[in-house]
Amino acid sequence: MAIQIPNRQLFIDGEWREPALKKRIPIINPATEETIGDIPAATAEDVEIAVEAARKALARNKGRDWFSASGALRAKYLRAIASKIKERKPELAKLEAIDSGKPLDETTSDIDEVAGCFEYYAGLAEGLDAKQKAPISLPTENFKTHVLQEPIGVVGLITAWNYPLLMAAWKVAPALAAGCAAILKPSELASITCLELAEVCIKVGLPPGVLNILTGLGQEAGAPLASHPHVDKVAFTGSTITGSKIMAAAAQLVKPVSLELGGKSPIVVFEDVDIEKAVEWTCFGIFLTNGQICSATSRLIVHERIAAEFMDRLLKWCKNIKVSDPMDEGCRLGPVVSRGQYEKILKFISTAKSEGAKVAFGGGHPEHLKKGFFIEPTIITDVTASMQIWREEVFGPVLCVKTFGSEEEALELANDTYYGLGAAVMSKDSERCERFSKALQAGIVWINCSQPSFIQAPWGGIKRSGFGRELGEWGLDLYLSVKQVTQYVSDQPWGWFKSPSKP
Ligand code: NAD
Repeated sequence: MAIQIPNRQLFIDGEWREPALKKRIPIINPATEETIGDIPAATAEDVEIAVEAARKALARNKGRDWFSASGALRAKYLRAIASKIKERKPELAKLEAIDSGKPLDETTSDIDEVAGCFEYYAGLAEGLDAKQKAPISLPTENFKTHVLQEPIGVVGLITAWNYPLLMAAWKVAPALAAGCAAILKPSELASITCLELAEVCIKVGLPPGVLNILTGLGQEAGAPLASHPHVDKVAFTGSTITGSKIMAAAAQLVKPVSLELGGKSPIVVFEDVDIEKAVEWTCFGIFLTNGQICSATSRLIVHERIAAEFMDRLLKWCKNIKVSDPMDEGCRLGPVVSRGQYEKILKFISTAKSEGAKVAFGGGHPEHLKKGFFIEPTIITDVTASMQIWREEVFGPVLCVKTFGSEEEALELANDTYYGLGAAVMSKDSERCERFSKALQAGIVWINCSQPSFIQAPWGGIKRSGFGRELGEWGLDLYLSVKQVTQYVSDQPWGWFKSPSKP
């Protein structure tokens, strides 16, 4: 049965609201190239109203505002959101698959994680109550000091399209748990489920202005949000190039930012591995989410002693990957998100060929699919370390391969990138894995696997992959401001004139 795409407006101050310029952006199903609906396009005028609504939600009102609400009260709303998301899981998973092109199996498990993320941060919100007024031990009895952990304020949350609702949840859940009011600007390429989050907020009675959702273009809605003087912090997930623009805008106002950016992560495979298992992780590490993962292990660095057998098995795996409409049972690779991404990825492949690399598998549109932005699982060999395909993020189902002879060579190849998001090492030698986990320059290291992520564990990169850590307690800290409160408790005058002022 065809799924109905809900017709939505912007979500501001607890209500649906038509965008000021009445503009809308078409939604294209990447598997069929058909227009299946549209989303509202916010501009600076809408950002202005949303920021005002968020400020109002935080305005101190004898404990009846979001800023001063207890963690326990915030947790109640977060749990209610999680529960409504679970109720709507099958529908949300389908909407996300049709919007983003991700296989339905994957969007279904993403929606589970979205609900899990709201539940997890509900727990941390409750924990915050107990952490308030934590006393600091001082080397004097004349003073007492404690610490308050307060919400940063109004936060702008700008996200990418590869995990539309999950990337939003990674930001919205901790921001709301911390007591911030948020304005979410999801990617124009896949926003449907984020607008459904608005519907969920209405259903659970989230106080107006606590979460506002503005769909729209980066330049028209994202840029005014990032540079707005009353947005106290910006949390961003997206490309390194946009991240650097956001940072520049924030710098004008000395506004804190956290950035989850692109990657070109290595997977180093030693000669002692179980080859079949390592090949499976290699495929998972690059083809999950149709190859559009920031942390995709897109550079395979395999020991020369097993390279021939590894490649043989890898190509067999590629032949068995089902490339199809994301709704089909068993689909493992759906279309990439848009025509723009499709053309960009094909251009990467043609440049690689013109630079002398060889396409060992795939490299184009699958013959059995007439329409849609599908790209075959693609394996590129004969790569040099200076080629574009080895250095730049493709953000598609394209794996490039190099071999190595020694541990030093493998490490040098792995770290020779200006990105630093993820890195994987595969070996039965646990000491070697331990050495590598310390030496790899990345925010996340996987040993004998690639890609698993957990709500409890920190997520984020180094170098040009960004800074700040989402998820876990680190994710909550991104939205908290630490305030020192120091009180003079002695009966005696301070005595500044008598002696040098020393506490
Ligand atoms: P993008 O940078 O084009 O867009 C990301 C978001 O920024 C979108 O909402 C977009 O509308 C907005 N935007 C664009 N220009 C803007 C501007 N000038 N000011 C403010 N906002 C603006 O990225 P994308 O194509 O949507 O996503 C793919 C990228 O995201 C890849 O590089 C990928 O690696 C990265 N990503 C990183 C992580 C992570 O956790 N590190 C996770 C997912 C995706």
